[in-house]
Amino acid sequence: MICYNCKKQFYVKRNFLSLFETKKYYICNACRSTYPIQFGYEEIPLENYTLFIVSIFKRTYKLNLDAYQKELSKIVEFLMKRYKDYFLVYLDSFKENDVQIECLSFLADTQKKSILLVCCELKK
Ligand SMILES: [Zn+2]
Repeated sequence: MICYNCKKQFYVKRNFLSLFETKKYYICNACRSTYPIQFGYEEIPLENYTLFIVSIFKRTYKLNLDAYQKELSKIVEFLMKRYKDYFLVYLDSFKENDVQIECLSFLADTQKKSILLVCCELKK
């Protein structure tokens, strides 16, 4: 398989039981260890509701996010099931400042729900 991030070819070890499985991997082990998933969690009170921010990477990486598409889809799916009453917003990158939070507060008021913001990179 070819890593979506570094474009190098890599092999997935298989054993006798997984010999005929057709699992797809989009990121090699070297890139996975260089750019690890490390969750961050932040809760910001808005005027009437709450903003929960879940960041997936602790640092800003020069990373092709398509390489983590399988993991990101599972994370978002899990969060959607867990936080059913929240309005989910997914962004690749989110810069936390007063204007953005004010916009999200307005969005929460229009949706009448608290907001769960999932972002890969959280910039402050
Ligand atoms: Zn790679």
